[in-house]
Amino acid sequence: MSARPPESPRAYRGRLLTPLAASSNGDRVRYLDDALLVVGSDGRIVEAAPFAPGAFRGPVLDLRPSVLMPGFIDAHVHFPQTRIIGSASGSLLDWLERSVFPEEARFRDDGYAALVAGEFTARLAASGTTTCVVFSSSCAGATDQLFDALLRAGLRGIAGLTLMDQNCPEALCVPRDDAIAMARDLVQRWHGAGGGLLEFAITPRFALSCSRGLMEAAALLAHDHDLLVQTHVAETPAEGEATLREHPWARDYIDVYDRVGLLTGRALLAHGIHLTPREWDRLAEARSSVVHCPDSNFFLGSGRMRLADARARAVSVGLGSDVGAGRSFDMRRSMSSAFDNALCLGDRLLPSALFVMATQGTADAIGLGLVIGSLEAGKEADFIAVRFPEHLLGEAELLNHLVFAPETAAVHRAFVRGRPVHLRRLGAPPHHSP
Ligand SMILES: [Zn+2]
Repeated sequence: MSARPPESPRAYRGRLLTPLAASSNGDRVRYLDDALLVVGSDGRIVEAAPFAPGAFRGPVLDLRPSVLMPGFIDAHVHFPQTRIIGSASGSLLDWLERSVFPEEARFRDDGYAALVAGEFTARLAASGTTTCVVFSSSCAGATDQLFDALLRAGLRGIAGLTLMDQNCPEALCVPRDDAIAMARDLVQRWHGAGGGLLEFAITPRFALSCSRGLMEAAALLAHDHDLLVQTHVAETPAEGEATLREHPWARDYIDVYDRVGLLTGRALLAHGIHLTPREWDRLAEARSSVVHCPDSNFFLGSGRMRLADARARAVSVGLGSDVGAGRSFDMRRSMSSAFDNALCLGDRLLPSALFVMATQGTADAIGLGLVIGSLEAGKEADFIAVRFPEHLLGEAELLNHLVFAPETAAVHRAFVRGRPVHLRRLGAPPHHSP
């Protein structure tokens, strides 16, 4: 008797749409009208190729006419704001005070945090988001609940305890030593958990809510464990001015993060609307990335981020929903808002460029560009199946509907590392073919 063979690869047949490798800042995609996606027992893609009868021996899940594509990646989302989407209570600083801080204080209750964490992961998966980079609250218990929910949902997630030791309500304020001790414990419990699907990120809310000492201690912890750093920068002029009043030793906003050691090659800075040329140059030099959150920027009236400033310096740009200032977990809403944002500045982005931005481009920005972001052999099988109206026949029409008419394109399956994380039954069930 021979040893039991490893679990046979799983194969999926459908149309296929993926960014071309190494097109992270571009708009080049590969479209196959009839393709086979083969996933190995290790969760990696063995092959993504045109379907050929008889070429694959084994069961095939036939998902035609759905389109297989990489799962979306949300590089900036706030878990404790899940329930306050649409709170139009003012511009950034007023909105934080009136809508965000009171809600985030509720996450001191583990039961409440667990409830919302379940909603959060379900909404991500249902939107076709297979990877998320997340701000938790400043509470360790809520952050445990978030990681636990991500683990149970099978999603890929990078998340961090939101650091705040000043300029915030007492209920959210955690002094430096306590916060760093909590973060250190969370690194031990969660960094690399779920077979490496989960990572801990150093997460100062923004420089205004953090003392210099807290940011310096957080930077050391990031360095010790090579952690991703995420924060906000230059979202509104008022925030920028308040930040420099708070940290007068810095020459500009980017310099605050730079001097405390947070401006690393693994730093992910959300917004970046009101940066000067010097700040952009420094970002590029430090190889930090920016997260474009256009839907949030429209909602809070924060301004228009100039993608051209990033592209001119080869700064990597990811896309973020920024829920709850962003109005939807669906990254297609963010793609559509990114189009509007560019249009306001006289630039017209192609739907293919927006699709690439939300997949391979964002994977690159968060340092996972060799692992996920496109469907090609060797990458981990994070993918979704999207059902479009029957009359849409070609690549251009599919992209137009994907980006601008998401209500016509249902995400009915999502997989992370080859394992199902979302299933929505549609009218006609898929059938198996031998
Ligand atoms: Zn944010």
